[in-house]
Amino acid sequence: MRAAPGVRTSPDFPIPDTMKAWVLGDPGQVALTDKPVPTPKRAEVLVRIDAVAICATDLEIIWHGPPASIQGGFAFNKNFTPGHEYMGTVVALGPGVDEYRIGQRVTVEIHAGCGQCKRCREGMYTACHNYGLNYGEVDKGHRANGFTTDGGFCEYQVNNINTLVAIPDAMSDEEATLVVTAGTAMYGLTELGGLVAGESVVVTGPGPIGLLGVAVAKAMGAQPVILTGTRDNRLKTGLELGADHVVNVRNEDAVEAVRRLNGGKGVDYVLECSGAPNAVNEAIRMVNRGGKVCLAAFPHEQVPVDIAHIVRNNIYLYGIRGEGKSATHRAEAFMSQKRFDATKIHTHTFALEDLPTALRYARERIEDAIKVVVKAKGVATRKMAAE
Ligand SMILES: [Zn+2]
Ligand SMILES: [Zn+2]
Repeated sequence: MRAAPGVRTSPDFPIPDTMKAWVLGDPGQVALTDKPVPTPKRAEVLVRIDAVAICATDLEIIWHGPPASIQGGFAFNKNFTPGHEYMGTVVALGPGVDEYRIGQRVTVEIHAGCGQCKRCREGMYTACHNYGLNYGEVDKGHRANGFTTDGGFCEYQVNNINTLVAIPDAMSDEEATLVVTAGTAMYGLTELGGLVAGESVVVTGPGPIGLLGVAVAKAMGAQPVILTGTRDNRLKTGLELGADHVVNVRNEDAVEAVRRLNGGKGVDYVLECSGAPNAVNEAIRMVNRGGKVCLAAFPHEQVPVDIAHIVRNNIYLYGIRGEGKSATHRAEAFMSQKRFDATKIHTHTFALEDLPTALRYARERIEDAIKVVVKAKGVATRKMAAE
């Protein structure tokens, strides 16, 4: 790291000039290279990255490009380091930073909005109007590490202090990487849905956000929480995370099953995490009149939606982007109080040098992989096999 005026470091955490970093080449290709260790500026710290979880969005970026946007375009062959679900240790403080201390363990959320647009001022920094405008003459200060700026598949990264969440010693590195995923579910449920205890929730799609959506909904007091999906092993994990009922949609009609399980009425909220083409039309029939549907996943093609049913029944539809309004802090509060065990979705760990193998496990769901984590000093482990 280059020394700069006002930047503080500690002899306890010596910082090298360069680091190992994975960069994205052509689609599907990542290469290990050396990069300079970045220097934190005002309101930023340098984080030594201790663990990174692989997200389905990382796979989307590495193989297809969007939603990453580097210099206003595709992310390929731009010396871009992906990875956004990381945690680590604060090792240097930018000028004026007194909110965190060197040696503190933190996990990160992704988006540091520009801080000056209408949405950022409302706390909706994941929907920043200056998204991706972070370079050259158009630098508005927006940062979304692993999307519009360098991310976490490397040894060090700078983060705006607003993207940090302090974590307790008792929380493992692996668990801490899952805070942002739980935070995304939390954003959907608390900010858009307004869930209160005793209300009913369906989560459709048992991916990482859906599974932690079950856990967050249950921790918030939802009753009942119903999880729908196609794979029994994922549905079983949903039961372990607090689902009251699970429905395998291969075996029964999802809408009928939900109505039966909730007294024939339909539920108050659906958190749609499947992205299946028929998901919206099913979700609007799973909710009761006046119910709310939160869309946290998207199909890859355009689909016809029964608007008349939505209007006649006063149904609310919300799209959410990421983990806004500091939802990660509320998710971390649940996790540090052990209100649910997010590590049930962590299945594999690899060393940072083995990132291509880790990506393959995540992409091909080898050995029923759900969340695959890479660690700077990691040793490969297969959690499911070991337990
Ligand atoms: Zn993610
Ligand atoms: Zn903004």
